[in-house]
Amino acid sequence: MVRGYPEVDFSRGECTFCGACATACKDGALPRADDHALPWTIKAQITDNCLAHRGVECRICGDPCPVTAIRFSPRLGGPPVAEVDAATCTGCGACVAPCPVNAISIT
Ligand code: SF4
Ligand code: SF4
Repeated sequence: MVRGYPEVDFSRGECTFCGACATACKDGALPRADDHALPWTIKAQITDNCLAHRGVECRICGDPCPVTAIRFSPRLGGPPVAEVDAATCTGCGACVAPCPVNAISIT
């Protein structure tokens, strides 16, 4: 029998906020305020591991974001740097697995 708290592993994919986990938990440990409420307030953060900080252009994380929360701001002397709009980010984690250098954390 598996024990412990459930964890979301964003390296395996994003949360679609479908609510299946809340429905499946018969003890009600994963309550939902309503069908449209996000389950958490965590957001994506891009760390210094991002390839842009090493002079390599990369925009891989932008495409999977369903709400276009990742922007690439031009800068002098180097490739554009990815930035997360925290107000738009849902913390779904869709950007985590595609990053080739594990530069995105959801915190
Ligand atoms: S996918 Fe990773 S390395 Fe590429 S821009 Fe996004 S955070 Fe940077
Ligand atoms: S966690 Fe989801 S919403 Fe936030 S930047 Fe990544 S893909 Fe976009």
